[in-house]
Amino acid sequence: MQFARGFKKDCDSIVVNLRAELGVEDSMPIDMDRLGAYLEIPISSIGEHVETLGLDPESECVSEIYKKTSALTWFVRHRRHFLYNERHSAPRHRSNLAHEFAHALLGHPPEAELSREHLRLIENEAKWLGGVLMLSTTEAHRIVSRGLSHQEVIDRHLLSKEMLTYRINVSGAGKRRRGDFEGFRDLPGPAPEGHGRRVSRPY
Ligand SMILES: [Zn+2]
Repeated sequence: MQFARGFKKDCDSIVVNLRAELGVEDSMPIDMDRLGAYLEIPISSIGEHVETLGLDPESECVSEIYKKTSALTWFVRHRRHFLYNERHSAPRHRSNLAHEFAHALLGHPPEAELSREHLRLIENEAKWLGGVLMLSTTEAHRIVSRGLSHQEVIDRHLLSKEMLTYRINVSGAGKRRRGDFEGFRDLPGPAPEGHGRRVSRPY
């Protein structure tokens, strides 16, 4: 299933409007905790739940949860809640949450209600919008046209190399001066998502 016509432009608009509402310029990363508060989505870590439930953090069951979970959304009635794996690196944690925020901003329903094909579509939509939340299309173009260094961009936007490469490539910015991102060219972009069930993510 393909994206609906205009979907990518709509994602750019969603992020432009969101950044304006939050007062965060394109050249700065979005604070995911602040975004959660703004959208009134409670966010908690696996560790918090393990502690509340009095589980043994070293148990096989808990280890398995950490291994299989990046972040996920669950619903209490119609209200979204996010759960995240606090053991992931900061850039990966941010992109995990960005992916869940993308589901929320696109109004995606709980996955149990969806066919496999529809599920694949909404995962791809969330992957796309999650990427735009991490680095806007305009900013991707600005970075390439100004020839900013990889590390400078990674540090400023709190991105992984893989996410930077992915956004530069899919935004079309990389076509302008691909040489600037030579070192990243062969790295894989983020893999298609399994909603909240990823065993591993490349970023
Ligand atoms: Zn998802």
